[in-house]
This record gives sequence, C-alpha cells and structure tokens, in this order.
Amino acid sequence: MELVFRNDAYARSCSATVTGADAGGIRLDRTVFYAESGGQLGDIGVLIPASGAPIVIVDTKKGDGPDEILHIPAEGSALPAPGTAVTAEIDWERRHRLMRMHTCLHLLCAVVTGDVTGGQVSDGKGRLDFNLPNTALDKDHITAELNRLIREDHPVQPRWITDDELAATPDLVRTMSVKPPSGQGRVRLLEIEGMDLQPCGGTHVARTGEIGRVEVTKIENKGRQNRRINLAFVG
Ligand SMILES: [Zn+2]
Repeated sequence: MELVFRNDAYARSCSATVTGADAGGIRLDRTVFYAESGGQLGDIGVLIPASGAPIVIVDTKKGDGPDEILHIPAEGSALPAPGTAVTAEIDWERRHRLMRMHTCLHLLCAVVTGDVTGGQVSDGKGRLDFNLPNTALDKDHITAELNRLIREDHPVQPRWITDDELAATPDLVRTMSVKPPSGQGRVRLLEIEGMDLQPCGGTHVARTGEIGRVEVTKIENKGRQNRRINLAFVG
C-alpha cells in the first residue's frame, strides 16, 4: 500500500483501487487517509466510485500488516468489490487542524524540556504528558514561547535516517510512548530546524506560521512524574 500522506501531507485526494473489503474495513492500493497512530486521530472522508453512491469513511485504523490501512465505512455502507476504482478524499479542513496541532506539539517539545510519556492530537486541541517531577511549569510563559516560535515561521520537514544512525543517536527519541515507523532499514524523523528533531510518522504543516495562535488551557498532575500540558487554538 502506497501511503501518499507520508511524503505529501497536503494531498487531499488520490485515485486508488480497492484491494479488499470486509467487516474490518476497506483496503486500497494507495491512500491519502492517515490511520490513527502516534496519538493523532485517523482521518475521515469519502471513497467515491466511478458509479454508485460515495462511501462515507468515519475512521481510519492500522491493519495487521506493515503499512496496512483500514478505511472504516459508516454503518450500513455497501462494501465495494475488489478491483473497484475509487477517488479517496479526506475531510481536509479537519485534517489540516490535526496537522497544525500535531506540529504545535513538536514546538511544545522545544519549549518544555523533559521526556514525553504520552500525547494526543484531537480536533482543535492537543496534549503532551511529560515526566517532570518537581518542576514548576508556567502556563503563560509556555503560551508566549509557543506563539513566538509560531510567529517566527520556521520550516518543518521530514528527514529519513537509517536504523543504525538512530541506534547510534538514542537521544533523538523524545517520545517514549510512540514508536516511529521503522523496520525497513530507515526511520522517518520530523525536523523543525534548530528546535526539534525526533522520529515521527504523523502529518505536519510545512511552516510553523501555519499553526496559528494557540494557548495552554490547562496543566494537570497525572501521577507523581506526569505533567499533562493541554493546548487549544485561539479563535
Ligand atoms: Zn510529528
């Protein structure tokens, strides 16, 4: 399966062929749909066959195989036969909000120093958990720093390195709870130049300025060493 979003997060649609469909979901030979992983929600959208009704996709999940993606149809949808040509089209407005928030969480890693133990990218909001015992975190300071880095409009880009290079540089792994895509001899990193570099298979905007204004809405204590920082868009 060709994962179009991995090299082009801005692709909103692609032509594809159905390779299988059952109760577990619809499989395609290529897709723009991001499957839920790394704390980022799966895409929603529609599969449009040349004839017949569009199939509404309510979620996207990972399958059992490597790079296998399952498009989850709305309940009661008629499943397309293998070989059916479709246009796969995501809900772009929602995905773009997820990309903006996901990229912002990378900036949060640049502002807050500490091991990340978990995270979530939702529609319009996001959060990261840090292993930060006995550290005072200032909501207003973090908000101001994030918005400064956003305004500075830094470029954001993926970079691939070999498994061996990653093994030799374990400090690159900021997120202990998220496994980057690897196993084929190379690992995908996400780089915000001079600010953050870590393995990540998610979707991101091309420049930090595209994120727009954000604020820290809440900082919670989740256990002795777990500080949860919640973010949301402003306006
Ligand atoms: Zn990422």
